[in-house]
Order: sequence, then C-alpha cells, then structure tokens
Amino acid sequence: AKKFILKAPFDGFPKRSDFELQEEDLPALKDGEYLAEALFLSVDPYMRGYMARLPPRSVMIGIQVAKVLESRNKDYTPGELVVLQSGWRTHTISDGKTNGDYKLPPMGDLSPSLGCGSVGMPGMTAYFGFLELCQPKAGETVVVSGAAGAVGSLVGQIAKLKKCKVIGYAGTDAKCKWLKEELGFDHAFNYKTKDIGQSLKEAAPEGVDCYFDNVGGMTAVTVMNHMNLFGRIANCGSISSYNDTEVATGPYIFALMVRQQLRSEGFNVLRWRDSWPKGLMQMIEWIKEGKVKVREHVTYGFEKMPEAFMGMLRGENTGKAVVAAK
Ligand code: NDP
Repeated sequence: AKKFILKAPFDGFPKRSDFELQEEDLPALKDGEYLAEALFLSVDPYMRGYMARLPPRSVMIGIQVAKVLESRNKDYTPGELVVLQSGWRTHTISDGKTNGDYKLPPMGDLSPSLGCGSVGMPGMTAYFGFLELCQPKAGETVVVSGAAGAVGSLVGQIAKLKKCKVIGYAGTDAKCKWLKEELGFDHAFNYKTKDIGQSLKEAAPEGVDCYFDNVGGMTAVTVMNHMNLFGRIANCGSISSYNDTEVATGPYIFALMVRQQLRSEGFNVLRWRDSWPKGLMQMIEWIKEGKVKVREHVTYGFEKMPEAFMGMLRGENTGKAVVAAK
C-alpha cells in the first residue's frame, strides 16, 4: 500500500517537494473491518488550507471512491464501491463506522469517478449551496465564478434548469467556450483578459440577483458592485487567496451590502450532510437525463496525486479534477 504525507505546512503555492510518497504494510483484517482499494481519488482546493490544521507529516486528506477487496464486516461485500474520507492512500482498512464514509449510490452506467465530483461532495456543494442560499427564481440573473470547475460548472447548469440567466467567469477562452457552447451559459468571460466590471455592464445591464462565489478577492467585490436590491451571495470559497502568504485586507464593501440589502452567507457543504442522499439522487437523475453535463480532468497514476493537485490549483482542470489510481 502507498500513501502521501505532507512533509511540512504549505508555504505559498504547493511544491512537489512538500509531498512524500510512503509505502506501508497493512495489518491483517480484524472482525468488523474491510479492506478497500482506491479507484479514483479527488483533489480539491480545501486541501490547500485544511492541512494547516493537522499535525506535521499527516497523510494528505481527501475523499476517494474505493472498491472493497476483502471483508470481515457483514455489511460490506467484496466488489462494492464506497466513498471514503481516508485521504491520499491506495488501500484503506475501515470498520465501516468512520464518520463521513458511505456506499456509493447505485449509478447505473455512470462512471464511479463521479462519486468524487458531481455525485459527491462538490455536487452537493453546488446543489445545496446554490439552491438553499441563493434561492434563485426564474428570470433572475446569476453570476458564478470558478465557473468551469467542479462546483461552478454545476452551479451554472442548475441555474439554467431554474430558468435563470447565467454569467460565468473562468480562466481560459477554451473554458468559456465550453461553458457557452456545451453547458448553455448565457455568457462566459475569461477573467484574466476581460475586465469584470465592464463585462457585467455589457452582459448584465439589469443587475445581478445571485452570486455564487468560488474565488473571493476583487472578483467578488466587483460582482457585488453590480448586485440588485435584495441580492443573495453564496460564499463558497475564495481560491484567489488560498496561496497568499500574507493576510488579505479587504476593500470596504459593507456600505454596499447595506445599500443594496444584500445577504451574503458563508457555508460548509456538511451543513446539509443529512440531505445528501436526496441531492445525490437528484444529480444522478439530471446527469442520466442529459440535463446536467459533467466533465472530468483525469490524471492517471496514484504517484501523480501532487501534480494533479497543483495542476488543479493552477486551473489546468475543466470540470472535476480526479486521479485514477492505476
Ligand atoms: P475547481 O474544480 O473549480 O478547481 C479550482 C479552480 O480554481 C481552477 O480550475 C482555476 O480555474 C480556479 N482558480 C485558481 N486560482 C484562481 C484565482 N487566483 N482566481 C480565480 N480562480 C482561480 O475546484 P472546486 O470546484 O472543487 O472548488 C471551487 C471552490 O469551491 C473553491 O473555492 C473551494 O474551496 C470551494 N468549495 C467550498 C466548499 C464548501 O463547503 N464551502 C466545498 C467544496 C468546494 P480558472 O482557470 O478559472 O482560474
């Protein structure tokens, strides 16, 4: 079995040398335990910040879709697929009680890798974060940043299903083309080459009702300046600052919030953990019906976990970044 540990806390943008691949011998299974082998592992932005909370030389955290190989637990049969929170490791021994682990819901022909993305934590982030906090209504204008990523690409499509006008921001022209031509976004802009304020004047002269914020920073402040009375903001993430080495001091936006009576709410997707089964089933249904399209950026080989993670932070992924273990 193999695992990756983080040698020392990240300092600025992660480096390959921050990670160490280790071999480990797993003990024999005890009664009540099962052994699972990783099929697909997720690389996600939260890993960048979260590792700072763990002791040095901890195993990198993360979820994976794994296959039960051997079992001494009557509830788990070899061949079954499970979603584990065991981090960057090829093999996991579980007692089936670890908080947060669950069986992958039946998905028919869909790839089990979706359990790391649209039919997993990022999917639930888009589904509950957007619908619960933004409360979109037909005809409203929705802006989503990080729009071509795992969460953002789903938020935009759910907004279209709710009959909203959707404007997305992403970091390459190819991503914007995908958002408009394949996913049905009304507008998509490359935030690296197009001024956000100017693009909103052109694409949303009527103002913005909902903003699903994946990136924070000046993008968020600029979008907020275009929001309508009683606008709603879901503060999902702020990836533009995750690799900063200094604490950001934000511009003054509170007067704006008062004037437009905005509601801005941060969230953790685990808030809706009890409702995930319903959300997962809804995502599976939408994907099977072709109403939600999913794309994955797959890196092959467990040894490439660090490269996949750093590539995702650099924006190499369109859709969900996952690693196929073999
Ligand atoms: P993505 O698939 O969107 O991957 C990250 C993307 O971020 C990259 O592809 C890149 O795309 C973009 N990015 C990187 N640096 C910057 C930057 N400086 N400014 C703007 N965009 C940048 O990841 P996820 O969909 O998994 O996550 C999206 C956001 O949601 C993150 O902020 C994450 O922390 C948050 N999140 C929050 C959860 C919660 O419970 N609150 C749960 C899950 C995710 P590009 O080419 O467009 O730059």
